[in-house]
Amino acid sequence: MKAAVWYGKKDVRVEEREVKAAQAGQVKIKVQYAGICGSDLHAYHHGVGIQEGDKHPLSGQNAPLTLGHEFAGVVSELGDHVSGIKVGDRVVVEPLYHCGKCEYCIQGRYNQCTQFGFVGLNGDGGFAEYVVVESYMVHALPDNVSFEEGALVEPTAVALHAVRHSKLKVGQKVAVYGAGPIGLLTILSAKAAGASEIYAVDVFDERLNLAAKLGAIPVNSAQVNATDTILQKSGGIDVAYEAAGVQPTMDSAISVIKKGGEVVVIAAIPTPLQVNFFELLVKEANLTSTLAYRHIFPEVVSLIAEGALDVKQVITKKIKLDNIVEEGLELLMSDKSHAKILIEINE
Ligand SMILES: [Zn+2]
Ligand SMILES: [Zn+2]
Repeated sequence: MKAAVWYGKKDVRVEEREVKAAQAGQVKIKVQYAGICGSDLHAYHHGVGIQEGDKHPLSGQNAPLTLGHEFAGVVSELGDHVSGIKVGDRVVVEPLYHCGKCEYCIQGRYNQCTQFGFVGLNGDGGFAEYVVVESYMVHALPDNVSFEEGALVEPTAVALHAVRHSKLKVGQKVAVYGAGPIGLLTILSAKAAGASEIYAVDVFDERLNLAAKLGAIPVNSAQVNATDTILQKSGGIDVAYEAAGVQPTMDSAISVIKKGGEVVVIAAIPTPLQVNFFELLVKEANLTSTLAYRHIFPEVVSLIAEGALDVKQVITKKIKLDNIVEEGLELLMSDKSHAKILIEINE
């Protein structure tokens, strides 16, 4: 089969790989659509986040590894001891390895597992014609949710988990910093959760135009002072979601929230930022963060099926697996007009 395999920084090769068999407790999936994520870009451009050196304790694998953790497809083979799933089922994969035994897993917080890992970063992923995953990762897709939408369930889960984890109540005002895929999906999730006004802050007009289409009020922080603009228009924000992760956006997020408000960090921020704790203290405000998601894929799928989350709107391009490097991993770095690029794998 064809697969996009990570060998090293700036070295992803589309090559022939053996199709593995599904072992006990595993499911083989024929992948239909897969989405390219920011963490795929980090792995390709910076060589970070991928399982190098020792094998991952749960996947038993290390690089070279097939990338891809946002994907949907059709079940093609079952290993022994798999129940509740059958060959031919349309499915989406929740790509988190977890041990099921550590303190955090036992408490149901499997996204905080001590051996946490991602399919497509710590084990072979979905940028391939077939992928083998653990059966606990597999969720059904109803017939009225397309495979394209299925490939968007994972990033939407990140956004919806952040919104559900936050203090947001129906009718409150929100600011979302960063209008990349996660920011855009956070706008959709906040809208679905009943936010009355949503401000989107970014420096690229193309992304802000997309945010405006989703119902947000665009604020270009390269052209105006985002904090002043949002405060003037809104009178203060209840919850700010930080999906950009740079010093100016963090500063602004803390400044726009009302007393008793909240800043939720969704972005994986690689370098330490300064936080004005005096401003937080005076406001008795919360600063919190969320990691991936847990127990939320079925809800995301239902919200998409019911039309409450129109996730298709964030797709800006569809490409073939052969062209993943030029038209995906390279293009997403050079052309910020793109949000989510999907790879069409098996038609
Ligand atoms: Zn992702
Ligand atoms: Zn665990």
